[in-house]
Amino acid sequence: MGKIYVLREPRRGDRAWNIYALREAAWLKRWFQGVYYSPRLKRLLAVFKPTPGTHVNMLVFEEMGESVLSDAYRMECPRGCNRCCVFRSGAFILENELRRLPVEVQERIRSQPSELVRTPGGPVRVYRLDTGPMGRCIFFDVEEGRCMLEDYGKHAKPIVCLLTYCTVFATRGGRLYLKRGYRVLRDGRVEMRYEEVDRDTWNRMVARMGSLWSSYRKTFRRAGAGAVKREAKA
Ligand code: SF4
Ligand code: SF4
Repeated sequence: MGKIYVLREPRRGDRAWNIYALREAAWLKRWFQGVYYSPRLKRLLAVFKPTPGTHVNMLVFEEMGESVLSDAYRMECPRGCNRCCVFRSGAFILENELRRLPVEVQERIRSQPSELVRTPGGPVRVYRLDTGPMGRCIFFDVEEGRCMLEDYGKHAKPIVCLLTYCTVFATRGGRLYLKRGYRVLRDGRVEMRYEEVDRDTWNRMVARMGSLWSSYRKTFRRAGAGAVKREAKA
């Protein structure tokens, strides 16, 4: 088995450092493999597997053997939930993530409120994307229930969106799991308990979690489908 690079855990209360770590991770986005929960380490692992010779900033990454993933659950974000995009999304994108996006998308992002964060690796401009009604992300297509940035490739989404999971849904060895509980250990690590479920149970949970988006969409339809479409294209 080969080696993987795992993003070090965020530093509590140190936003400048965390933005710096995200910027470094964003450079390696195309080698992002997913977020896993290791029951052995009792830790979430944001896993990257860059091709040999790629520069990896070891201040923000740590190297591990791939075998650490052998019993790990892969975090999933099933289509139809959309909770993280539709309401108080808190979504943002970093300057170095814009270069691979089409010019018109870059322009749209650059017109959003932004902030220059002074990080240990230099200033990083952070653009807010959560400026839609009720904190909805501007790239969330309310009608279709999807991220419009997906049109530009699977790694076009902001790194923060690729790395952030509710941890409710997981897969392992082709099987489906739902989180049934967790407990915080004395050292701060979190022990999560997953239970294997069938497809119907999984789908019911997706529908339950997605009810927020369904209500939101109903409200928008009432407000006028045309308005929704205009806003999506603005
Ligand atoms: S709540 Fe979970 S499943 Fe829903 S959009 Fe967020 S990460 Fe995905
Ligand atoms: S960029 Fe995409 S994935 Fe991220 S919050 Fe916006 S719609 Fe959701």
